[in-house]
Formats: sequence, structure tokens, C-alpha cells
Amino acid sequence: MRLLYAAVFLLVSSAGTRAQTADVLIRNGKILDGTGNSWVYGDIAVKNGKIAATGRLDKWTATRTIDAAGLFVAPGFIDVHTHIEDDEKRNPTADNFIYDGVTTVITGNCGSSRVDLGAYFSMLDSLKTSVNIASLIGHNDVRKAVMGTANRDPDEQELQKMEAIVEKAMKDGAVGFSTGLIYIPGTYSKTAEVVRLAKAAARHGVYASHMRDEGDSVTQAIEEALHIGREANMPVEISHFKLSGQQNWGRSREILPMIIRARAEGLDVTIDQYPYTASSTSLSTLLPDWVLSDGQDSIKARLARPEVRRQVSNYMLRRLQKRRLKHFSYPVVASFRADSALNGKSIEEVNLIRGRKHKAREEAETIIQMMEQGGAGMVFHGMSDQDVKNIMQYPFNMFASDASIRVFNSGNPHPRGYGTNARVLAKYVREEKVLSLEEAIRRMTSLPAQKFRLEHRGLLREGFAADIVVFDAAKVTDLSTYDRPHQYSTGFRYVLVNGKITVDQEKHTGTRAGEVIRGE
Ligand SMILES: [Zn+2]
Repeated sequence: MRLLYAAVFLLVSSAGTRAQTADVLIRNGKILDGTGNSWVYGDIAVKNGKIAATGRLDKWTATRTIDAAGLFVAPGFIDVHTHIEDDEKRNPTADNFIYDGVTTVITGNCGSSRVDLGAYFSMLDSLKTSVNIASLIGHNDVRKAVMGTANRDPDEQELQKMEAIVEKAMKDGAVGFSTGLIYIPGTYSKTAEVVRLAKAAARHGVYASHMRDEGDSVTQAIEEALHIGREANMPVEISHFKLSGQQNWGRSREILPMIIRARAEGLDVTIDQYPYTASSTSLSTLLPDWVLSDGQDSIKARLARPEVRRQVSNYMLRRLQKRRLKHFSYPVVASFRADSALNGKSIEEVNLIRGRKHKAREEAETIIQMMEQGGAGMVFHGMSDQDVKNIMQYPFNMFASDASIRVFNSGNPHPRGYGTNARVLAKYVREEKVLSLEEAIRRMTSLPAQKFRLEHRGLLREGFAADIVVFDAAKVTDLSTYDRPHQYSTGFRYVLVNGKITVDQEKHTGTRAGEVIRGE
């Protein structure tokens, strides 16, 4: 009888009750498993890069034990919208992401990626970064490789060449296809071209769209993104979902129902956002498309003609008027190679610094001159906090930084590259209670993992990769601001990537245990 009892007990006992040795044991934490369910007290054992057991693990021992009493333990955050190309080599420890709790990034967004992803992934394999990396294949770079920045439709041969590049990228492990229909040359492409190329990625990939418009024509742009998903029969991710321009404030009440309806009709569409009311993009987006084709020399040649200059200036003034603004006060220089002393100044201020009159027409001339000097990276202050919150409350919205790997103290970039996740947890969960902690964590972990099919990531479950964040919910804070962006988030006490401790007592250990995550 006693023997039988023992046998039954052995059968039903989980790994947790047997004495075992882990590499890392996280004890007494409040476990947020990533599903959105309420936290529970428990322990987590990590072995060989994976989660070996969860629950009450009293009999386990470990090489390293972390006491998480009073702290939350969650899956590492997955940032679905980043642009890390080039910066990964300069800064493979990806400190801005790691200190914000991010253990996995998806790059290649907004139509901008490496064209040969196979080669890119091999490079990353040997480089070794601190975060896991997955990539999309970007339409703009595929188009540039085949037809430069030509402002026309591709012919059939060119289309087939582009298709072949997308197909190869998917075979090499891309997790989907991205477009940036606001940037050259994506802006020259018609919907049919995008559908055709999206189809080449549809079997295993997501269509991630930086839409054609995020302001006055946003509803048409959403329709186009949904149409591409339906035609190509693939999941859609709408990137940095927002409403730009004061005249569009409040329209989240109009555009969120479009997403809800499309889902109800059976399309797998999700969205992501960065939790800020300013965007970050290139100065060139202030100018009309037709002036921007064929590279810097052509742009300069066009702008040299007085009548073109006047037309461009009039275009910008009309758009300013639409925003109901008297000055170009909302665009702020982030990085201007020609004169970095202007970083952090608005166009209105730059214009005055350059000794011009305090008039919008003179400010437009300043913008044109800056374009002639090579253009600039900008921060645009143009969204409403209420729209940001409405979008945040949508259950199939994720958080994403839309950032690169920051080079500490270089330029004046958007703070989202440092503080996206901490800001959600501090401002929107803790202070303003826009959403619950469990829900915020679900959007940072299992939702993105499921959407982009990152196998065995995004949950604290046996057998899953040990990407883990241990944080103090009362203290986690984003310190990065528009004025002083180069500040890491605080409150993330420990970060593990593939089982390796990468942040120990709030200090990056230099560990580079990230892996390339290849799609199916
Ligand atoms: Zn974008």
C-alpha cells in the first residue's frame, strides 16, 4: 500500500518537488506569467537557457539564487517595432533595450531592412548581442535594390525580382514583410505592388505596415493596410498606430472601431504604439513627395529653382495652417549632421538662431535650407494624450519603441528608445491606471510572441526560453525625456536572456546571450 502510494505520488509530482539543481533560481517573486492572469507567489528554476520549473521549488538548489521577495517576475519584453541595423555593431550590448526590460527585438520595420537577411543573420550569429533579434524584410530596400528610387510602377520583370528577394528572405528566417509607404521609394508604390510582394511572405509571415498616412487620410491608409492583409491572406500588424496633427485629435474614436470590425470579420489584425505624444521621423516628411525622388543631388537641384522653392514653401505653409499653428514649433531637431548645435531646438527656434524674421514663411525657408544641408532627424510634437490612452486600452495593442540601439550621449533622439516599457508601467499603469499590470505585461510578452510566432517565448512556462525580467513595480521609471533623452530606465532589478543574467542588481553585466530568432 505504502509502495503504491509512493508510486502514485511520484507520477503526479511535478518537477518542482524533486530535488534538482538549477543554474539560476528566482525565489519568492510575484509571478506574472505573461498570459494576463493575476500574479501568484512562486519560484522559477532556470537551466540550460530554459525555464526548467515553476511553482513552489523548495527542494531545488542553484548555482545562483535571486531573492525576488517584493518584486514581480515576468517574461522578458518583446519590442515588435525597432530599427537596429548598423547600431548593433557599435553597441551589441543594446543597453537602452536591456535596461528597459526588453529581451527580444523585431527589426526591419517601416520597409527598411537588410536585403540579404541570410547574410545579416550570420553576421548577428557571430557578433552576439545582448538581446534576441528577429527581422522583417523591408519593401523599400527590396524596391531600391531592384529599381533604385524610381518614381514609377515596376514592370513584370522587376516585380518578379522583388518577389524573389522577399521569398528568399522568408526562407532565411524573416518573420514577415514590412512597408514604409510614407518614405521614398515606398510612397511611389501602388497597393497592387504591395499585395503582390506581401503574398510572397504570406505563408509564414506577418504584414507590418507603416501606413501611407497617419494624419488627415488615416482612414484610407488603414483601409489599404487591411485590404493588403485580406488580399494576401496574412496577419496584419499596424505599426505605431496614432493620429498626427492637432486637427486629427480625438479621431481614435473613429479609427479603433475600424480595427475592431476587421477582427470581427476574421482578419488577424493587431496594432502597436509607443506611449508618447511626440513622433520621431525625418525632416523630409514635411516636404511634398515629388521633390524628394532620386536622392540628395536631385533634391538639391530641384530646390535650387525659385519656383519649386516657392511651391514647396506654400505646401508646407498650407499644412501648418491645417494644424491651426502659427509657427513650426512642433518639429524639434533630433540630429542634424550639418550643425549638431541645433539638436534639441524647434524649427521656430532654429529660424531665429539663423537670424531670420519670426515668420512661418521664413521658417519654411529654414526647413528647405536644412534639407539642402542633408536633412535631419526630428521629433514632432503632434498627438493627444487622450488618443494615446484610448489606443492603449485596446486589448490587441502592443508597445514598441520604434527605436534603434542608442549610442549613449549621441544626438538628441526620441526618449522612447530608452523608456517605452518603463513609461507604460510607471505612468500608465501605476500613476494613471489606464490598464492593469497583468494586462500591460501580456501586451509586452505573450501577445507579441504569438503574433510573430516566436516559438517558446513570451510566457513563464516550463520549456520556454528563460527570458525573464525581475522588477520593482513601485519604482520602475522612465527617466529619458525629450530634453535629456540619454537616461536609462530604472527599476528592472534583474534581466535574464536565454537563462543568462544580463542585468544584475540594475547593472548590465556585459553578457551577450541573445540569439537570432528565425521564423519557420
Ligand atoms: Zn515607421
